[in-house]
Amino acid sequence: MIKTLPSWLKKEIPDSASIKSKLDLVKDLNLHTVCVSAHCPNMGECFSHGALTFMILGDICTRNCQFCAVRKGMPGKLDINEPQNIARAVKKLNLDYVVITSVTRDDLSEGGASVFAETVKQIKNLNPDTKIELLIPDFQGNLGSLGKVMDSSPDVIGHNIETVERLYQKVRPMANYRRSLGVLNEIRKIDRNILTKSAILLGMGETWAEIIQTMQDLKGVSCDILAIGQYLAPSNQHLQVAKFVSPDEFKEYKEIAEKLGFKYVLSGPFVRSSYLASELLRS
Ligand code: SF4
Repeated sequence: MIKTLPSWLKKEIPDSASIKSKLDLVKDLNLHTVCVSAHCPNMGECFSHGALTFMILGDICTRNCQFCAVRKGMPGKLDINEPQNIARAVKKLNLDYVVITSVTRDDLSEGGASVFAETVKQIKNLNPDTKIELLIPDFQGNLGSLGKVMDSSPDVIGHNIETVERLYQKVRPMANYRRSLGVLNEIRKIDRNILTKSAILLGMGETWAEIIQTMQDLKGVSCDILAIGQYLAPSNQHLQVAKFVSPDEFKEYKEIAEKLGFKYVLSGPFVRSSYLASELLRS
């Protein structure tokens, strides 16, 4: 087990006042962020720039991914006010770009797709100029659910591949690599103009060749945006880090991804799928 963080993974202490004011608002509206639930190391930086990622459909996930800090188990009832409260939070925070993700809700017949769609609708009603990025679960490959989400016309749709195919059984036992690629492929088939996005976390035991293969697979389904970051174990009970990838290696992966033809690539130790999401599209 690797215990000591290399120098490039040390972050400055975040500005707690800026974090607290945003979290107070999130709590007052009975909302959740993946920033908190997934113990994201970028909270200080993102929150001080006014960026945060809302997590809808509650804060308990029905899957058991071994890398993820989000609580797992049987979720409670949906909060019917959640879509409207997200829209209100976007307004109060004056966000011109917002990322919405969710826990995976395999217990719901359509995986919560209609809540995604309603959330987009409510955000647009109250914040017509705000760009919306959705980071969706695989909806167990249900095309009806995917269609429902796409009908709401977000600006970007992401679905994270997270790791290489060989490690799925160990890292994401209830997910399926090919199904996740299929989700991205379907999005592209339904709407050729929408931007699609995916992310991979390195340091879980994958090889160089497997990383390149995963990039090629994502390019094969016409994914536009790729985010590559370092996996950090949320606790001793989670999958442990197999390797800390150096900044030079991240640079090399970025160059390879760009050569493969991704429109936008973010690659670095602290990169996450929602990290600098709005800046990326402005670049
Ligand atoms: S990278 Fe994403 S999850 Fe992490 S703090 Fe920023 S917005 Fe939140």
